[in-house]
Amino acid sequence: MKTILLSPPSTPGSSTADYAAAVARAGARPVLMPLPGTPDCEALAREALEGADALVLIGGGDLDPVLYGERPLPECGPALPIRDRADLALARAALETGKPVLAICRGIQALNVALGGTLYQDIPAQVPGSAEHQTRQAEAHTVSVRTGTLLYEIVGTGRLPATSRHHQAVKAPGKGLVVSAVSDDGIIEAVEFADKRPVIGVQWHPETLAADYPAHQALFDWLARAAGAGA
Ligand code: MN
Repeated sequence: MKTILLSPPSTPGSSTADYAAAVARAGARPVLMPLPGTPDCEALAREALEGADALVLIGGGDLDPVLYGERPLPECGPALPIRDRADLALARAALETGKPVLAICRGIQALNVALGGTLYQDIPAQVPGSAEHQTRQAEAHTVSVRTGTLLYEIVGTGRLPATSRHHQAVKAPGKGLVVSAVSDDGIIEAVEFADKRPVIGVQWHPETLAADYPAHQALFDWLARAAGAGA
């Protein structure tokens, strides 16, 4: 059975049950990395990934804007430097070793920053006229999936209902990334590589919908398959 590493949550009490369940339904073994809390954060992240076949970068709070060359706006949430370091190290290690990645919510933001991209620190403050992206509804808004993308191949539809529990989003995509889905107001909701290597970032939470929506479970099924293909 293939092992899929879940990146560390911000606190030990944060629930990762939905991620673990979606990975298990895909036929892979979920393994949770604890928050390192040590000067050897990057080394521990690399070691944790060495023992896994693929990576899920899970959701959470805001990354420190310093990491993409900006000063924090008042609307930006508090930084958790050890988690930023762990997530960036995991993303970079996965990219270097060719291990498949599904980057979710904060995860797509970490993936993007790891590749030199930037973020909107706060959509309401920085994108006038944008829709509400911070809501608890299961079907908060629809995302338009671009044809010809790896994401489209996986979900099999151009219009997908999605959660929206974020106030930040990808602004400038990082090196090599292309946009694979947007919401109707133009906010970037998914990214991937133009060469279709097995790396996908989504701004919504497929794990909370996966039990009821095959298109969202399909992302985890794809990750498990890609883990098996192995680089
Ligand atoms: Mn959204």
